[in-house]
Amino acid sequence: MLRIKGLTKQYKNAPLVLKGVSFEVPKGQIVGLIGPSGAGKSTLIRCINRLIDPTSGEIWLDNTLLSSLSSGKMREQRRHIGMIFQEYALVERLSVMENVLSGRLGYLPFWRTFLRRFPEKEIQMAFGLLERVGLIDHANKRADELSGGQRQRVGIARALMQQPDLLLVDEPTASLDPKTSRQIMRLIQEICFERGLPAIINIHDVPLAMQFTHRIIGLHGGSVVFDGSPEALDEEA
Ligand code: ADP
Ligand code: ADP
Repeated sequence: MLRIKGLTKQYKNAPLVLKGVSFEVPKGQIVGLIGPSGAGKSTLIRCINRLIDPTSGEIWLDNTLLSSLSSGKMREQRRHIGMIFQEYALVERLSVMENVLSGRLGYLPFWRTFLRRFPEKEIQMAFGLLERVGLIDHANKRADELSGGQRQRVGIARALMQQPDLLLVDEPTASLDPKTSRQIMRLIQEICFERGLPAIINIHDVPLAMQFTHRIIGLHGGSVVFDGSPEALDEEA
């Protein structure tokens, strides 16, 4: 369970871009984070994984207060937060398998993937995940031989390799066609359900968010202006 309480963020010499954001995400719930450009969505996501430090407020993941951890401790905790990116962020010249295994290392420099001998258990886990995302036949291909949708599936498997307690997903379908976008959203939805994972998906495609999330949080000017079911958003519009 993720709990955010009174989160604010002020960049240097600038007005507040998060103005006291509070919400909880229980296990298995997928939140679609929507709002116009500049609303503070990326800032919120980056505060949660502590790529940037919030100015005030609390972020709890289960019983850990992420917002007060030292950067060393946070590096450890970040292993429990799976990230899925718009542009996949794969290492092009590594194989699909190696990209998935690299999730095990968190966000270390990729060449460490070559140097590490992965235990058999982790290799089996990676095979299992490749099977789950439908890429078992592509395990030995180079990442740059895959289509966009396949690359995002690698990104999903890599995030799961961390055995995360939370998924943070940044515009996962922005580079994909509508049909592939729906397939990727459905896969994320199924996996969160199967694993009881809470997820926050930063997504500008509102119809897609409404179709594949349980709950919509609308940010505007750094404040939560909507928090409810997709159906409730539909009625408000
Ligand atoms: P969104 O993801 O909703 O488009 P952002 O979180 O990227 O919104 O940005 C929210 C506001 O914070 C914007 O006004 C943006 O210009 C500002 N901002 C984002 N990053 C920085 C930064 N590193 N320094 C100063 N201002 C920033
Ligand atoms: P996004 O696609 O997330 O909205 P942006 O174009 O807002 O991306 O931001 C891209 C990068 O520029 C981010 O790293 C963000 O922190 C930084 N940035 C955005 N706005 C500002 C700003 N006003 N001052 C300094 N850095 C900014």
